[in-house]
Amino acid sequence: MKNAIVGIDLGTTFSLVSTLRDGVPVVLPNALGELLTPSAVSITDDGTVLIGAPARARATTHPTRTALAFKRDMGTDKQIDLGLRKMSPQELSSLVLGTLKRDAEAALGCAVEEAVITVPAYFGDLQRQATKDAGAIAGLKVERIINEPTAAALAYGLHERNRELRAVVLDLGGGTFDVTVLEIIEGVIEIQSTAGDARLGGEDFDAALAEHVIARIKGEQRADLDRDPRARARIKEAAEGAKKRLSEAESTRVALVDLPLGGGRTTSFELWLTREQVDDVWAPVLERMRGPIQRALRDASLTPDRIDEVLLVGGSTRMPAVARLAAQMFGRLPLRKLPPDEAVAMGAAVQAALKTGDAAVEDMVVTDVAPFTMGISSSTQLGTQRVTGIYSPILERGTVIPASRVERFYTVGDDQQQILIEVYQGEHSLCRDNVKLGEYQLKGLPRGSAGEQGVDVRFTYDMNGILEVDMTIVSLGKTETLVIEKSPGRLSPAQIKAARDAMARLKFHPRDALPNATALARADALFVELSGPDREALGAALAVFRAALEGQDDREIETRRDRLNGLVESLRRR
Ligand code: AMP
Repeated sequence: MKNAIVGIDLGTTFSLVSTLRDGVPVVLPNALGELLTPSAVSITDDGTVLIGAPARARATTHPTRTALAFKRDMGTDKQIDLGLRKMSPQELSSLVLGTLKRDAEAALGCAVEEAVITVPAYFGDLQRQATKDAGAIAGLKVERIINEPTAAALAYGLHERNRELRAVVLDLGGGTFDVTVLEIIEGVIEIQSTAGDARLGGEDFDAALAEHVIARIKGEQRADLDRDPRARARIKEAAEGAKKRLSEAESTRVALVDLPLGGGRTTSFELWLTREQVDDVWAPVLERMRGPIQRALRDASLTPDRIDEVLLVGGSTRMPAVARLAAQMFGRLPLRKLPPDEAVAMGAAVQAALKTGDAAVEDMVVTDVAPFTMGISSSTQLGTQRVTGIYSPILERGTVIPASRVERFYTVGDDQQQILIEVYQGEHSLCRDNVKLGEYQLKGLPRGSAGEQGVDVRFTYDMNGILEVDMTIVSLGKTETLVIEKSPGRLSPAQIKAARDAMARLKFHPRDALPNATALARADALFVELSGPDREALGAALAVFRAALEGQDDREIETRRDRLNGLVESLRRR
């Protein structure tokens, strides 16, 4: 194998890269040996770019130099400030993709030049295009963009079952909740509906549990935890740790040592949490999952009993309470065989294998549907009044893609020789409430009275969610194709090349030194939080490690790093 194609889950908090080995998808480890690479980028004082774990660890110590969650800005023209320079969401994503590419190359021992990348089902045209652009900047040919729930279904092999079935994918991550209803017929996966809550995820469970812990500390100690913000930050972190342990255990201990109270004072506190207690604490958060599930079912015109399989993806579905809610609502046990944070990347690898003709997936066809309605702006005559800016849908949301739809429009004025074709995406009746994708001034219409000249506007939406608009002047048979140039977040080939060159000029941290950078960044982040003897001990270990780095004796560096990591681990656990 000289050249491999991989599947990539480009996530808001974490990203993963996967490939098929002997017909089975496996997630490939990064330079730290970890499967999840944080989608984070940070720039150090000397201009070195850090990506992944060391960048994420710097989020608390260097927030103005660090970018997180830039996936939320994909498809916009936002520039994210990293102190020494600004970067677009595509550039930041390209850095994450580039790291995954190199990690995959190291793991596979061959070049990786092509990828299938997943995006949320609700991503529109611009966001999909921006994702493709990010791949191009990273030097990856993006073979396909597929929907995350579709990928999850592929990972679970639902397309291989010999009957028609309906599935619902519940994706609960750190900060978002997505629900997708899928229909699978003869290996074809179709999205029936999507719904979600962009502000519901694991962090809400952490916050609820942290409030509970704070109330208990206040109740017992009357301590003022609001004077030093580090106190709340540490409690929140401890709450997340406890939440994860409670996914496995019935009860867990939370110990908070030397919580800073301001003015140099500290307090320590220890408590036990049981599943029963936390289930009560989490009930209101859990309840918020019901709305989007019901909405998705309603949009697909289905009742829960018509769903054959429930798939759980996203790290937060490891919580037993989430699985229980799913079981209650659908009257069946959800599928949880695959690690929930790896399933989407695995599905992308299954799709990627299609391209290389791997026998295990050869016969598979996958289709998606258009996530949004797309149309153009038109006007209408109401009595003596001409109303403009009316949205005329051409390609309806939910249309199976690739798809091509055509509508005929007519001139509205006598001798009208031009028509401005404005393309929008969205579901609202007025264009101003939808998202504008681009516009084209169609010229050269033959003269005639109003309504005499017709223009066929054809929308072709391909498997990668990219829209092409062909406009044909009917009487002339002359066709022009829309090139959207000015839409936000969309890059021309020249811009992609410029961005590629700019990214190539950045100074990157060497891959083999990543464990050192990560150890430093993680220890630094903890140092900020600690106080008293713990802080002193960590400071000493950090100084010894820094000295070892100066000395450049590899064995010495490794020994000191292991010690530092060990100390950080044990201090975090307390
Ligand atoms: P994702 O964005 O899919 O990686 O999900 C990350 C979220 O999953 C975070 O809120 C984590 O706290 C949460 N998470 C990860 N592992 C567990 C676990 N074992 N139990 C509960 N939540 C978890």
